[in-house]
Amino acid sequence: MTPTTFGEIALAAPIQRALQEQNYVLPSPIQAQSIPTLLKGQDLLGIAQTGTGKTAAFSLPILNALHENPRRPKSRSARVLVLTPTRELATQISASFETYGRHVHFSKTLIFGGVGKNPQIRAMRQGVDVLVACPGRLLDHMGEGDVDLSSVEFFVLDEVDRMLDMGFLRDVKRIIAALPRKRQSLFFSATLSPAIDDLARSILHNPASVTIAPEKTTAEKVAQRVCFVDRENKKELLAQHLEEERDKGLTIIFSKTKHGSDKLCRWINSAGFTAEAIHGNRSQPQRERTLEKFKKGALPILVATDVAARGVDVKDVTLVVNFDLPNEAEAYVHRIGRTGRAGATGSAVSYCSPEEHEFLIDIEKLIQQEIPVDSSHDHHDEELASLHARGLKSKLSTRDNGGNKGGGGGGRRDGGGRRDGGGGGGRNQGGNSGGGGGQRRTAEAPAGVSQRRRRRR
Ligand code: AMP
Repeated sequence: MTPTTFGEIALAAPIQRALQEQNYVLPSPIQAQSIPTLLKGQDLLGIAQTGTGKTAAFSLPILNALHENPRRPKSRSARVLVLTPTRELATQISASFETYGRHVHFSKTLIFGGVGKNPQIRAMRQGVDVLVACPGRLLDHMGEGDVDLSSVEFFVLDEVDRMLDMGFLRDVKRIIAALPRKRQSLFFSATLSPAIDDLARSILHNPASVTIAPEKTTAEKVAQRVCFVDRENKKELLAQHLEEERDKGLTIIFSKTKHGSDKLCRWINSAGFTAEAIHGNRSQPQRERTLEKFKKGALPILVATDVAARGVDVKDVTLVVNFDLPNEAEAYVHRIGRTGRAGATGSAVSYCSPEEHEFLIDIEKLIQQEIPVDSSHDHHDEELASLHARGLKSKLSTRDNGGNKGGGGGGRRDGGGRRDGGGGGGRNQGGNSGGGGGQRRTAEAPAGVSQRRRRRR
């Protein structure tokens, strides 16, 4: 039977106490389904994304095991290895261990790049109970003989889909090869592609399998809308949205590039709002300071790139703005998952310029939803809205970068690759056309449209 309260789960008293202090009463579905299984020592394949409570789902039973079976870790070794793709996630997971394990005696450390190696080497010298690490730097330490994984008892591979997106597959495999055969392994991914499935099979032994909140479920919790807008009008539109959101809650704005997020951040500040950017070019202490302020509510607006925002776990994010649409549809789901966390609802607005149109088509195909169109602003591009509603693709859309200079006609790299995403009538078009006018743009011939419509409905 799946437990309905934490009290029904056989977690030790110090852990129950920490949960009470956190005001956690009801386990989230992934916690209810996986913690009892993990306490029995079984491997786990969890298909779930951040926001579902998966960090507690794996850290609580691990802390329980450390509490019930305290043992001195071997020098340079760890009893628990949590491997995760980004520094932010690693930091967040480590903080969760600290919170949930505040009444348990255990040691932990973090290993990731971008900061000095020596403190990490020193921290590992005695061995630790819990090591939370990113693959690249961990491999460096292993290569230099500073970390030895041969006595790991629990191995957690987190955000595997992201790990593969970021090109860590080979690194991950090398790390796995250094683990002992006898261990308990937990594997988490938001999606299960064939490559991920292969990796899971190679790691897990007779796993229990738990699937929570497929991508579109999170998308459903978030009120989404898309604004069709020319690139040059996006900032003005953003100012309008930020004004509407002022004093309501926290906003994360996604920008495609590090440079772009810095520029945008400067513009936002010059427009009378308060924003800071986090991205890979900022030092770890800088990023941490910014995140800390954001979490405390002292910083209302965060401008982020996809990678930097991974693992940003802030409950009060009420608005996500996709200033640039991501060129990978999955990233959209991760982005909007920054709001609507822990049962709350949130809203996400995406700015789609003609150059980015194909990305929108991809996103709607992935989430199997038409994102309602918001035309209630001064910069509404009715021509693009109308193309989209008719299942046509803007001729300016380029899959390469979503930001090509427009003009130029033709010359798309993916030639005939027609999508079967958009289309379907019944869009929420609102009134207010903002004066479509357009002789500027023309649609591509709708070769696949009727087929597209048939398939969608
Ligand atoms: P995660 O998916 O691990 O990133 O967790 C998402 C958020 O939910 C975090 O802010 C957790 O602190 C919170 N959370 C996790 N489990 C629970 C729970 N059982 N009750 C209330 N909040 C929770």
